[in-house]
Amino acid sequence: MSIKGSDVLQNIEANRIFAEKTDIPLHIGITEAGPAGKGSVKSAVGLGILLYMGIGDTVRVSLTADPVEEVKVAYQILQSLGLRRRGIEIISCPTCGRIEVNLPEVVRKVEERLEGETLPVKVAIMGCVVNAIGEAREADIGLACGNKSAILFKEGQPLRRVSEDEMVDQLLEEIKKMKESGKYGRATGKS
Ligand code: SF4
Repeated sequence: MSIKGSDVLQNIEANRIFAEKTDIPLHIGITEAGPAGKGSVKSAVGLGILLYMGIGDTVRVSLTADPVEEVKVAYQILQSLGLRRRGIEIISCPTCGRIEVNLPEVVRKVEERLEGETLPVKVAIMGCVVNAIGEAREADIGLACGNKSAILFKEGQPLRRVSEDEMVDQLLEEIKKMKESGKYGRATGKS
């Protein structure tokens, strides 16, 4: 059964009322959510609230965009709620005056080069040591950046210092080793 509309609040309410009255499986989604950016936010709010309430058996994200993007957003919503683990999760800071590396570029390159990777690994990329050490240790692997370099962390332990120029390659090399060894997913609960 599917009860969908483009209004997020009406959608949530209609599905909530229906789910209270029956156990019939529900296919949920925000229809005609709009372009990729705004539509993803609407879908995340609408689906996220329903899924958190335990409502929804299958999901659909409807965007005015490439259908591949719809699938990515759907996976991201499920992953954010801990309902599905698939692919790399990047934890990165919003940057501030303390930043000493080109963090947006580092994150962009990592995201680009890990596109399509299904390994359930949490990667922390932080701009300075203030919050970086804690986040990097909580992740499977991470970069705690500072002074045009970074400390590369893996499974909670510092591995080595790497320069800004080589940090992306070094991070990806360690992720490749994790994949080959089958030892990964500490932070995502895979292992
Ligand atoms: S981790 Fe450092 S650079 Fe990033 S937002 Fe926090 S204080 Fe700023």
